[in-house]
Amino acid sequence: MSSNATVVTLKHAIPCKVCSAEATLCGVVDFNKSCEERRGKLLALSGVPIYYHRCGSCGLVFTSSFDHWSRSDFSAHIYNDAYVEIDPDYVDVRPSGTAPAIVDFVRNASGLKLLDYGGGNGKLAMLLREAGIDARSWDPMDAHGESAPPRAAFDLVTAFEVFEHTPEPLATAEQALGALKEGGVLVFSTLTIDEPPSRTLDHWYIAPRNGHITIHTARSLDALFGSLGYQLRHFNAGLHMAFRELPAWLPG
Ligand SMILES: [Zn+2]
Repeated sequence: MSSNATVVTLKHAIPCKVCSAEATLCGVVDFNKSCEERRGKLLALSGVPIYYHRCGSCGLVFTSSFDHWSRSDFSAHIYNDAYVEIDPDYVDVRPSGTAPAIVDFVRNASGLKLLDYGGGNGKLAMLLREAGIDARSWDPMDAHGESAPPRAAFDLVTAFEVFEHTPEPLATAEQALGALKEGGVLVFSTLTIDEPPSRTLDHWYIAPRNGHITIHTARSLDALFGSLGYQLRHFNAGLHMAFRELPAWLPG
């Protein structure tokens, strides 16, 4: 861990990063807790405790432990060469599984411009281009890319497994929505935990080693996007769409 992982004095209650209501400490896990624990893969303990707070109003579960990390801190300690071991679907399975669903979703749109926000290795955008869609990728962790995505340039922004990774939920949502043209929609995945286990952090998705540092409920997503003037449609606990008005090309 970097020298940034210093001991901090934790407050029992802090403002929620989404709705500003009181969020209280709800548990602590080792930094190396990963999503693969649900498949029986246990990493050696790092010895670094990561505390999470839970909002009493919207239910957001979040940690402040990474609030001051730089991009290079994240690259060194989370999105490093070992990341694929605790998110094996990232490289190929997820983009290959997602691309056909997007192709179907935009089947009625002509000339649509798509941005895959937080697109990682760019695989999904590449598959979509192969299917004839004007798609490009942008990722905040790409050290060689543009520092921000183009604004007001896209009819559809996708963001798969992005919003649980940001320590700044409002800024990230604003940036993703800011890439939309007037009337555009954002389709995104993040798993909401609306009924947490009695010990909240027992949930497999709350995993600092995966960079899962802001975990939503349907309510916290509604509050977040509502504050930015968008409505949400929750297709299921993992897939959501933000819109101001439904575009004509949307499948019925
Ligand atoms: Zn809240």
